[in-house]
Amino acid sequence: MRLEALDKAHLWHPFTQMQGWQATRPLIIERAEGCYLYDLEGRRYLDGVSSLWVTTHGHRTPELDAAIRHQLDKVAHTTLLGLTHPPAIELAARLVQLAPSGLTRVFYSDSGSTAVEVAIKMAFQYWRQRSDPRPRKTKFIHLRESYHGDTVGAVSVGGIALFHDLYRPLLFETLTVPEPHCYRCPLKLERPGCGMACAEELGRILSEHADEIAAVIIEPVMMGAAGMLAQPDGYVRRVRELCTAYDVLLICDEVATGFGRTGWMFACEAEGVAPDLLCVAKGLTGGYLPLAATLTTEAIYAAFLGEAGEFKTFFHGHTYTGNPLACAVALANLDLFEQNRTLDHVRTVANHLALRLEELRTLPLVGDIRQRGLMVGIELVADRAARTPFPPDQLMGYRVTNRCRDYGVILRPLGNVVVLMPPLAISTAQIDELADVLKTVIPEVAQSL
Ligand code: PMP
Repeated sequence: MRLEALDKAHLWHPFTQMQGWQATRPLIIERAEGCYLYDLEGRRYLDGVSSLWVTTHGHRTPELDAAIRHQLDKVAHTTLLGLTHPPAIELAARLVQLAPSGLTRVFYSDSGSTAVEVAIKMAFQYWRQRSDPRPRKTKFIHLRESYHGDTVGAVSVGGIALFHDLYRPLLFETLTVPEPHCYRCPLKLERPGCGMACAEELGRILSEHADEIAAVIIEPVMMGAAGMLAQPDGYVRRVRELCTAYDVLLICDEVATGFGRTGWMFACEAEGVAPDLLCVAKGLTGGYLPLAATLTTEAIYAAFLGEAGEFKTFFHGHTYTGNPLACAVALANLDLFEQNRTLDHVRTVANHLALRLEELRTLPLVGDIRQRGLMVGIELVADRAARTPFPPDQLMGYRVTNRCRDYGVILRPLGNVVVLMPPLAISTAQIDELADVLKTVIPEVAQSL
């Protein structure tokens, strides 16, 4: 087929082992509607991962389509370097209104990775430029298994060996702390007797190194790309307390968890936490166009104001930063959160999903199921009692998600973890469809071993 041949001849796919890609038939998606994707032959698939964790109200949502068309009649793109425009202004004000308290300034970029780059550069520059400068505070602390994006700065604060180790010689040095992951505790401890030792390890490092630390970066409540690692209650709150106590900035990366994914507008709200820098992207435009933002406080912004004649510019800004079409659709997306009471909907369907996931817990291969709202990881294990992981070359996650396609469900795994990140607008009937397929497929795959 012509498109397949051209794809294989020219298209280099992201995060993809191209040898494997060349050997298989690509699924070519031509159109979408609501929570479903359709291939060239018209076959329908439930979009179980929101087209890489971005879709909120569904594909081809009339209000979102209209917002883009309406903006197209005005201007498709103009810059924020030296000019400004209504959608960027309105959206910044709306984000400030929605964000945890104290976040009053919005800096746009184009992807989750760049939202993180911005936070890192801002934190670094803040300590040098504030009225009482602390130029020794240049280092960053991150969780060992973290993922914050694929650009060089974001990779520096990442920890997943497969994605990061190769690039280490290119990266800046960081300090790391064990991730809060109770199913496979890196400290080999158990809740609740552990006293959340992983957080106290952060406290220990801060007590020794706070003078050199610019910021701590975490993905609050649930680490996504790390394998859907759900954090114990109180963890984010404790990290906030420690950062405040040691005068270190807290960066919350809510690229995956933001915009309703966990049942809260932002996941850190579940713990009553406001970070100093908040990174958002993915769901911001409802899954329509690339747009990201880094929100921050007046205190940090003030360090970039300076006195008359001083140059304290933040040297960052991409050509398409704050694109008007993307800002316009983001505004319409946020309107729909209110009109459709999307957060209430997410909580309701997430409760239904939790009940259906209970049925999967007893299936062969299922070691652990971790859920926060509509963000789920089903970890497949070789031995449930011993929690033995499958070796990576067995591609267990892929075996399950590939088989799901035959039943009309699109999923994408993270190693041995089957990820469920459906559009926020998913109905209970569609959740049943998703759960029923997994209930069929997981035992089938177990049988085939
Ligand atoms: N941070 C987190 C928590 C993410 O999940 C991702 C993407 N999966 C990123 C950053 C990077 O976002 P992007 O792919 O848009 O650059």
